[in-house]
Amino acid sequence: MTSPLLDIRGISKSFGAIKASEDVSLTLECGEIHALIGPNGAGKSTLIKQIAGNLEPDSGRIRFDGHDVTALDTVARARAGLGRTFQISSLAMEMSVLQNAVLGALGRRGRVMRFFRDVMRDAALLEVAREALDEVGLGAVAGMRVADLSHGQRRQLEVAVALTQSPKAFLMDEPMAGLGGEGTARLTVFLDRLRHRAPILLVEHDMDAVFALADRISVLVYGRIIATGTPEAIRRDPQVREAYLGDEALS
Ligand code: ADP
Ligand code: MG
Repeated sequence: MTSPLLDIRGISKSFGAIKASEDVSLTLECGEIHALIGPNGAGKSTLIKQIAGNLEPDSGRIRFDGHDVTALDTVARARAGLGRTFQISSLAMEMSVLQNAVLGALGRRGRVMRFFRDVMRDAALLEVAREALDEVGLGAVAGMRVADLSHGQRRQLEVAVALTQSPKAFLMDEPMAGLGGEGTARLTVFLDRLRHRAPILLVEHDMDAVFALADRISVLVYGRIIATGTPEAIRRDPQVREAYLGDEALS
């Protein structure tokens, strides 16, 4: 058996008396969408931050692509191939769609200070940026200001920026939030394809999207994973029903 791409073992994190992560273990395999669900305050974002390197766990370790990354910072983890889309947008609103994608591609090259006008003439960077935009379906709006995009298009652009870094896995914290029905449907189709490019650890509140997309689901309650399994198994799990999912969400 091959080892999982992402392997989280025994992660714990407390904020004062609050145990935001308590002995959390989970894996992400190539080709899969592993959804992480749970009530507000369960510790989902805290876990994503520890995997991305924004927060240091009190204990436990994180292996990614065969290496222990527990001690690495966010930049080193991104370079190792952990792509992350943020709950709070990190896009430059006054710049164009293409400029944002080029900045993403530049990030992959490391800390090279250059004039922006030179960066925007760099054929290799432009190609990486345009490819990523095409892949998320934003090729036609490359010249638009980010501020003029719809909410859903901004989410797609965030994924495109992540794609310019050639991630080996994606961490996504509530990508559907605020999208509305049509935007959610479109992003669902997109993530369904994206999993074959790189697997996704997906935190999401939209249960229709979660049950449509996930190969596996883990349920986090008060910092602890109470169940991991296929959507069918999670739907039937009496402990999950009691702790989190109402019957109506599962029918
Ligand atoms: P979720 O994303 O599942 O809604 P969070 O990970 O944001 O949950 O929060 C988990 C718990 O940790 C909550 O009780 C929250 O108030 C607390 N928490 C999160 N971040 C901090 C922080 N930086 N300082 C103190 N408490 C925090
Ligand atoms: Mg959260």
